[in-house]
Amino acid sequence: MTEINASPNMNSSGYEMPPEMRQNIAITTLDKIWNMGRRYSVWPMMFGLACCAIEMICTAASRYDLARFGMEVMRPSPRQSDLMIVSGTVTKKMIPQIVRLYNQMPEPKYVLAMGACASGGGPFKEGYNVVSGVDKYIPVDVYVPGCPPTPQALLHGLMKLQEKIDSESITSVRWYQKEAIEAIPVPILGPDIIDPRDFPTIKSLTQGKPAAAEPAAETA
Ligand code: SF4
Repeated sequence: MTEINASPNMNSSGYEMPPEMRQNIAITTLDKIWNMGRRYSVWPMMFGLACCAIEMICTAASRYDLARFGMEVMRPSPRQSDLMIVSGTVTKKMIPQIVRLYNQMPEPKYVLAMGACASGGGPFKEGYNVVSGVDKYIPVDVYVPGCPPTPQALLHGLMKLQEKIDSESITSVRWYQKEAIEAIPVPILGPDIIDPRDFPTIKSLTQGKPAAAEPAAETA
Protein backbone atom coordinates (compact mmCIF):
# COMPACT_ATOMS: atom_id res chain seq x y z
CA MET A 1 0.00 0.00 0.00
CA THR A 2 2.94 2.29 0.82
CA GLU A 3 4.38 1.65 -2.63
CA ILE A 4 1.07 2.25 -4.38
CA ASN A 5 0.68 5.69 -2.83
CA ALA A 6 4.35 6.58 -3.40
CA SER A 7 3.45 9.06 -6.14
CA PRO A 8 1.25 12.02 -5.14
CA ASN A 9 -0.51 11.68 -8.50
CA MET A 10 -1.73 8.16 -7.77
CA ASN A 11 -5.12 7.54 -6.27
CA SER A 12 -5.76 4.80 -3.72
CA SER A 13 -6.33 2.25 -6.51
CA GLY A 14 -2.78 2.80 -7.74
CA TYR A 15 -3.65 4.58 -11.01
CA GLU A 16 -1.79 7.68 -12.13
CA MET A 17 -4.09 10.69 -12.17
CA PRO A 18 -3.40 14.41 -12.63
CA PRO A 19 -3.98 16.33 -9.38
CA GLU A 20 -6.78 18.48 -10.87
CA MET A 21 -8.74 15.33 -11.76
CA ARG A 22 -8.49 13.58 -8.42
CA GLN A 23 -11.60 15.25 -7.00
CA ASN A 24 -13.71 14.41 -10.05
CA ILE A 25 -12.94 10.83 -11.00
CA ALA A 26 -13.58 7.74 -8.92
CA ILE A 27 -12.05 4.44 -9.95
CA THR A 28 -13.59 1.22 -8.75
CA THR A 29 -14.31 -2.29 -9.97
CA LEU A 30 -17.29 -3.57 -11.91
CA ASP A 31 -17.95 -6.03 -9.07
CA LYS A 32 -18.22 -3.22 -6.54
CA ILE A 33 -20.68 -1.20 -8.63
CA TRP A 34 -22.73 -4.30 -9.45
CA ASN A 35 -22.82 -5.46 -5.84
CA MET A 36 -23.68 -2.00 -4.53
CA GLY A 37 -26.73 -1.93 -6.79
CA ARG A 38 -27.81 -5.37 -5.61
CA ARG A 39 -27.14 -4.99 -1.87
CA TYR A 40 -29.45 -1.97 -1.67
CA SER A 41 -32.32 -3.47 -3.65
CA VAL A 42 -32.93 -6.91 -2.13
CA TRP A 43 -36.68 -7.34 -2.37
CA PRO A 44 -38.01 -9.92 0.11
CA MET A 45 -40.95 -12.13 -0.71
CA MET A 46 -44.01 -11.24 1.31
CA PHE A 47 -44.91 -14.39 3.14
CA GLY A 48 -44.71 -15.67 6.68
CA LEU A 49 -45.23 -19.04 8.31
CA ALA A 50 -45.73 -18.59 12.06
CA CYS A 51 -44.89 -16.41 15.07
CA CYS A 52 -41.54 -15.28 13.65
CA ALA A 53 -43.47 -13.61 10.85
CA ILE A 54 -44.87 -11.11 13.37
CA GLU A 55 -41.32 -9.99 14.15
CA MET A 56 -40.62 -9.75 10.44
CA ILE A 57 -43.69 -7.55 10.04
CA CYS A 58 -42.42 -5.36 12.92
CA THR A 59 -39.08 -5.05 11.13
CA ALA A 60 -40.88 -3.63 8.12
CA ALA A 61 -42.67 -1.02 10.25
CA SER A 62 -41.49 2.56 10.65
CA ARG A 63 -39.53 2.04 13.88
CA TYR A 64 -36.93 -0.18 12.21
CA ASP A 65 -37.20 1.30 8.72
CA LEU A 66 -36.21 -1.43 6.27
CA ALA A 67 -36.14 1.27 3.59
CA ARG A 68 -32.65 2.17 4.82
CA PHE A 69 -31.50 -1.04 3.18
CA GLY A 70 -33.68 -0.76 0.08
CA MET A 71 -35.55 -3.84 1.31
CA GLU A 72 -38.93 -2.37 2.13
CA VAL A 73 -40.46 -3.44 -1.16
CA MET A 74 -41.88 -6.79 -0.12
CA ARG A 75 -43.14 -8.51 -3.23
CA PRO A 76 -46.30 -10.62 -3.36
CA SER A 77 -44.84 -12.73 -6.18
CA PRO A 78 -41.76 -14.99 -6.21
CA ARG A 79 -41.10 -13.83 -9.77
CA GLN A 80 -40.21 -10.36 -8.43
CA SER A 81 -38.37 -11.42 -5.28
CA ASP A 82 -34.66 -11.66 -4.49
CA LEU A 83 -34.91 -12.93 -0.93
CA MET A 84 -37.02 -15.56 0.76
CA ILE A 85 -37.25 -14.94 4.50
CA VAL A 86 -38.45 -18.23 5.95
CA SER A 87 -40.08 -16.82 9.07
CA GLY A 88 -41.66 -19.53 11.14
CA THR A 89 -42.26 -23.22 11.61
CA VAL A 90 -41.82 -25.21 8.41
CA THR A 91 -44.42 -27.95 8.41
CA LYS A 92 -44.40 -30.98 6.15
CA LYS A 93 -47.58 -29.68 4.57
CA MET A 94 -45.91 -26.37 3.72
CA ILE A 95 -42.50 -27.46 2.47
CA PRO A 96 -43.69 -28.44 -1.07
CA GLN A 97 -45.07 -24.91 -1.47
CA ILE A 98 -41.86 -23.35 -0.14
CA VAL A 99 -39.71 -25.32 -2.59
CA ARG A 100 -42.07 -24.46 -5.44
CA LEU A 101 -41.90 -20.75 -4.56
CA TYR A 102 -38.11 -20.96 -4.32
CA ASN A 103 -37.92 -22.51 -7.78
CA GLN A 104 -40.09 -19.72 -9.16
CA MET A 105 -37.76 -16.98 -7.88
CA PRO A 106 -35.31 -15.71 -10.52
CA GLU A 107 -31.57 -15.74 -9.90
CA PRO A 108 -29.86 -14.17 -8.06
CA LYS A 109 -31.90 -15.38 -5.11
CA TYR A 110 -31.14 -15.78 -1.44
CA VAL A 111 -32.73 -17.51 1.55
CA LEU A 112 -32.69 -16.32 5.15
CA ALA A 113 -33.84 -18.81 7.79
CA MET A 114 -35.42 -16.71 10.52
CA GLY A 115 -35.65 -18.29 13.95
CA ALA A 116 -35.09 -21.65 15.56
CA CYS A 117 -37.92 -23.37 13.67
CA ALA A 118 -36.77 -22.44 10.17
CA SER A 119 -33.12 -23.08 11.06
CA GLY A 120 -33.49 -26.50 12.65
CA GLY A 121 -37.03 -27.33 13.74
CA GLY A 122 -36.94 -25.28 16.95
CA PRO A 123 -39.20 -26.41 19.79
CA PHE A 124 -41.03 -28.71 17.36
CA LYS A 125 -37.93 -30.54 16.11
CA GLU A 126 -38.70 -34.18 15.37
CA GLY A 127 -42.40 -33.43 15.67
CA TYR A 128 -44.62 -35.60 13.47
CA ASN A 129 -45.60 -32.67 11.26
CA VAL A 130 -42.51 -30.46 11.25
CA VAL A 131 -39.42 -30.32 9.04
CA SER A 132 -36.13 -30.14 10.98
CA GLY A 133 -34.85 -27.06 9.18
CA VAL A 134 -35.67 -25.60 5.80
CA ASP A 135 -32.06 -26.19 4.71
CA LYS A 136 -32.92 -29.87 4.28
CA TYR A 137 -34.68 -28.80 1.08
CA ILE A 138 -33.40 -25.40 -0.11
CA PRO A 139 -29.99 -23.74 0.31
CA VAL A 140 -29.89 -21.20 3.15
CA ASP A 141 -27.55 -18.21 2.99
CA VAL A 142 -28.09 -16.68 6.44
CA TYR A 143 -29.40 -18.19 9.69
CA VAL A 144 -30.86 -15.87 12.33
CA PRO A 145 -31.11 -17.58 15.75
CA GLY A 146 -33.82 -16.88 18.30
CA CYS A 147 -37.35 -17.86 19.24
CA PRO A 148 -38.39 -15.46 17.93
CA PRO A 149 -35.47 -13.34 16.74
CA THR A 150 -36.03 -9.66 17.45
CA PRO A 151 -36.33 -7.18 14.60
CA GLN A 152 -32.78 -6.09 15.44
CA ALA A 153 -31.60 -9.67 14.98
CA LEU A 154 -33.33 -9.89 11.61
CA LEU A 155 -31.73 -6.60 10.57
CA HIS A 156 -28.36 -8.02 11.59
CA GLY A 157 -29.05 -11.08 9.43
CA LEU A 158 -29.97 -8.84 6.51
CA MET A 159 -26.70 -6.93 6.92
CA LYS A 160 -24.85 -10.27 6.91
CA LEU A 161 -26.60 -11.03 3.63
CA GLN A 162 -25.37 -7.69 2.28
CA GLU A 163 -21.83 -8.69 3.28
CA LYS A 164 -22.27 -11.95 1.41
CA ILE A 165 -23.47 -10.06 -1.67
CA ASP A 166 -20.41 -7.77 -1.39
CA SER A 167 -18.13 -10.80 -1.54
CA GLU A 168 -19.58 -12.11 -4.83
CA SER A 169 -17.93 -11.59 -8.18
CA ILE A 170 -19.72 -11.24 -11.49
CA THR A 171 -17.22 -13.69 -12.99
CA SER A 172 -17.92 -16.57 -10.61
CA VAL A 173 -21.54 -16.35 -9.46
CA ARG A 174 -23.45 -19.47 -10.35
CA TRP A 175 -26.21 -17.78 -12.36
CA TYR A 176 -23.77 -16.51 -15.02
CA GLN A 177 -22.15 -19.89 -15.59
CA LYS A 178 -22.78 -21.95 -18.73
CA GLU A 179 -24.28 -24.87 -16.85
CA ALA A 180 -28.03 -24.67 -16.34
CA ILE A 181 -29.22 -24.39 -12.74
CA GLU A 182 -31.42 -27.34 -11.95
CA ALA A 183 -34.70 -26.69 -10.12
CA ILE A 184 -35.06 -28.40 -6.76
CA PRO A 185 -37.46 -31.37 -6.90
CA VAL A 186 -40.67 -30.54 -5.06
CA PRO A 187 -41.15 -32.83 -2.03
CA ILE A 188 -44.12 -35.17 -2.14
CA LEU A 189 -46.56 -35.12 0.75
CA GLY A 190 -48.16 -38.44 1.51
CA PRO A 191 -48.49 -40.08 4.91
CA ASP A 192 -45.04 -38.50 5.43
CA ILE A 193 -42.94 -36.10 3.39
CA ILE A 194 -40.71 -37.62 0.72
CA ASP A 195 -37.81 -35.84 -0.93
CA PRO A 196 -37.50 -37.11 -4.53
CA ARG A 197 -33.72 -36.80 -4.18
CA ASP A 198 -33.92 -39.63 -1.66
CA PHE A 199 -35.48 -42.12 -4.12
CA PRO A 200 -32.22 -44.02 -4.76
CA THR A 201 -31.59 -44.40 -1.02
CA ILE A 202 -35.18 -45.45 -0.34
CA LYS A 203 -35.05 -48.03 -3.14
CA SER A 204 -31.73 -49.44 -2.08
CA LEU A 205 -33.00 -49.77 1.49
CA THR A 206 -36.34 -51.32 0.57
CA GLN A 207 -35.22 -53.50 -2.37
CA GLY A 208 -31.64 -54.08 -1.39
CA LYS A 209 -30.23 -52.74 -4.69
CA PRO A 210 -29.81 -49.34 -6.38
CA ALA A 211 -32.70 -48.20 -8.58
CA ALA A 212 -32.16 -48.26 -12.36
CA ALA A 213 -34.42 -45.37 -13.33
CA GLU A 214 -36.10 -42.79 -11.11
CA PRO A 215 -39.57 -41.35 -11.72
CA ALA A 216 -39.48 -37.80 -13.04
CA ALA A 217 -39.92 -35.38 -10.17
CA GLU A 218 -42.10 -32.30 -10.33
CA THR A 219 -39.95 -29.17 -10.21
CA ALA A 220 -42.34 -26.25 -10.54
S1 SF4 B 1 -38.76 -19.97 16.31
FE1 SF4 B 1 -40.17 -19.62 18.05
S2 SF4 B 1 -41.22 -17.70 17.51
FE2 SF4 B 1 -40.28 -18.49 15.61
S3 SF4 B 1 -41.88 -19.71 14.62
FE3 SF4 B 1 -40.67 -21.10 15.91
S4 SF4 B 1 -41.79 -21.18 17.87
FE4 SF4 B 1 -42.53 -19.37 16.75
